[in-house]
Amino acid sequence: MTIRDHFKRTQMWCTYGLAAILIGTALAIRFLHPKLPRPDILMVGLGLAAVAIVAVYFVTRRIYRCPRCGVGLNQLRAQTIGGQNKDRRMFWEIWNACPNCQLSFDAPWPK
Ligand SMILES: [Zn+2]
Repeated sequence: MTIRDHFKRTQMWCTYGLAAILIGTALAIRFLHPKLPRPDILMVGLGLAAVAIVAVYFVTRRIYRCPRCGVGLNQLRAQTIGGQNKDRRMFWEIWNACPNCQLSFDAPWPK
């Protein structure tokens, strides 16, 4: 498995994990409080989504690190490309190597 594969897999698990948590929580609220009015469910849902986004932000900060020099690649991407840019590609689709230490993303992921 290359470093690029590792990041792709991590992103996939984060996406599925987040979707599963949100759907599971929504179903749980529906079953535990069947009489809760819809606006309340919507507010709870929005609150959960906000918490989930913050959680993902901190988790990805920790996960998307260069295995050699430890630089935060997602942060580096955000700084390089800028927040208002509409480019939604992930950093491994833009770069072929770590911009800090030039470690190739095609190199095997260190165990
Ligand atoms: Zn690096």
